[in-house]
Amino acid sequence: MYESRPSAMSSFWMPFTNNRDFKRDPRLLVSAKGMYYRDVDGRELLDGAAGLWCVPCGHGQPKIAEAIAAMAGQLDYAPTFQMGHPAAFELAERLMAFSGHRFGHVFYTGSGSEAVDTALKMALAYHRARGEGGRTRLIGRERGYHGVGFGGISVGGIGANRKHFGPLLPGVDHLRHTHDLERNAYARGEPEHGVELADDLERMVALHDPSTIAAVIVEPVSGSTGVLIPPKGYLKRLREICDRHGILLIFDEVITGFGRLTTPFAGDWFGVEPDLMATAKGITNGAVPMGAVFSKAFIHDAFMEGPAGIELFHGYTYSGHPLACAAALATLDVFREQGVIENAARMQPYFEEALQSLRGLPHVIDLRSIGIIAAVELAPIAGQPGARGYAALKQAFADGLLIRITGDIIALSPPLVLEKKHVDELFGKLARVLTQLA
Ligand code: PLP
Repeated sequence: MYESRPSAMSSFWMPFTNNRDFKRDPRLLVSAKGMYYRDVDGRELLDGAAGLWCVPCGHGQPKIAEAIAAMAGQLDYAPTFQMGHPAAFELAERLMAFSGHRFGHVFYTGSGSEAVDTALKMALAYHRARGEGGRTRLIGRERGYHGVGFGGISVGGIGANRKHFGPLLPGVDHLRHTHDLERNAYARGEPEHGVELADDLERMVALHDPSTIAAVIVEPVSGSTGVLIPPKGYLKRLREICDRHGILLIFDEVITGFGRLTTPFAGDWFGVEPDLMATAKGITNGAVPMGAVFSKAFIHDAFMEGPAGIELFHGYTYSGHPLACAAALATLDVFREQGVIENAARMQPYFEEALQSLRGLPHVIDLRSIGIIAAVELAPIAGQPGARGYAALKQAFADGLLIRITGDIIALSPPLVLEKKHVDELFGKLARVLTQLA
C-alpha cells in the first residue's frame, strides 16, 4: 500500500519544507518498524528524531496499531461536546496517574499547537473567573516554540515563525533566551551559567505591574529552536517569581513530555511543577494526532464554582477522538509493559558519552544533551545561515539516518526504546556525515 513514488507531487503544499528543493529530490518514507524507517527505494534509515519527537516507544508497536483498528471498527467518531465516550474518561484517569497525580484534570486537543492555545486561553479565563480580568498579559521567551496557532506564535520567540503574520496578539512580552555558548559550550546536562536570566520576569513585573500578567509559558527544554537546556536553578526561580506575583506558570511539554528526559515529564526531572502543562506527540506514540492540557485542580475548580452552564467556551471537534484515546491508552500500556522510560534512563549515560565523541569534528561548535535529547551545533557558513544544517540533513538521509535540524543545529531525539547498537550507529553515521560536509 502506497509503497511506490507518487505519480505527481505538486498539489501537496508541504509544511515547514523547502517545497521546491524537496520535489526535485524527494525523501519518501513508506514504512517504519522499531528504530527504523524504510524509504521508497527500500533503504533502511535509523530514526534519530523519533519522527518529529513523537514516537517514544518506537515504530509499529502492535498493541497500539491493534487498539486503533479495534476502535475504528467500534466507534469511529463521537463528540465530546455535551456528550462523551468511555475511553476518553478512562484515559483521563490514566493520564493523571502517569503524571503522579500532580494534576487534577486534563483537557483534550488535536495537536500541540491547540494544546498551547488552550492553555493560554485557560490562563486568561481563569483570572477572569476569579475577578482578576485585568491579567491579560502573556509572557513567552525568545527562541521559544509553541506551535503555529496565533497564540503560540505570539508567545513564541522564533523570528521566522512570526514576522510574516502581522501584529499577532497584543500585550505579549518575552524573556530573553538562555543560550550562551561563550559561557556554557559543551555543558553536560544543565549549564552552569544563566540562572539570573529568570529575573527578567521580575523586571517585567516591575514594568507592567503583576496585576496585568496572566501567565508565563516556557518549554522546560526548548526543542525546535535547537535544544536549549535551562541553566541550573532557572526553572525553579521562574516558579518562585510566579508564586510571588500570582502569575500562572505554563510548561509546554509537547516535546519533553512522555519520557524524553527519562522521567514522565520534564517538570519531574527539574523538580518544578507548572500550573498548566501542554502536551501532545508522545501521548499516542505519534500514531493518531492528539494533544492534552494538564491542569492543576485549583484552575479547573475556579471554573466549576462559576455560574451554572458551560464552564469553558472552548473545545475542538476532535477533542478526545476515540481513535486517539485508544492509541493513548495503548501507549500508556506499552510504556509500562516494556519499561520504556526505565530503558531511556539506563541508556542515557551511554547516549551522552557517545555524543561527546563528535567533539573536534569539522564545524562542531557545541555538543549538549539532557535525557535522550542531544544537539550538535555547527558553525554557520558565512552569509548563509542554515545552509550547513540543511546539507547535513540531506547527507544524513543519503547515509541512512533521519535527523532533525533547526538552522545549523542538529537535534537528536531517537525513540526511547534505543539500545547501545543504535546509539553506536547513530553517532557513527553522524560522524561520517560531519566529515563530509563542506
Ligand atoms: N510546542 C512545542 C514545544 C513543540 O515542539 C511543538 C511541535 O514541535 C508544538 C508545540 C506544536 O505541536 P503540533 O505541531 O502538534 O501543533
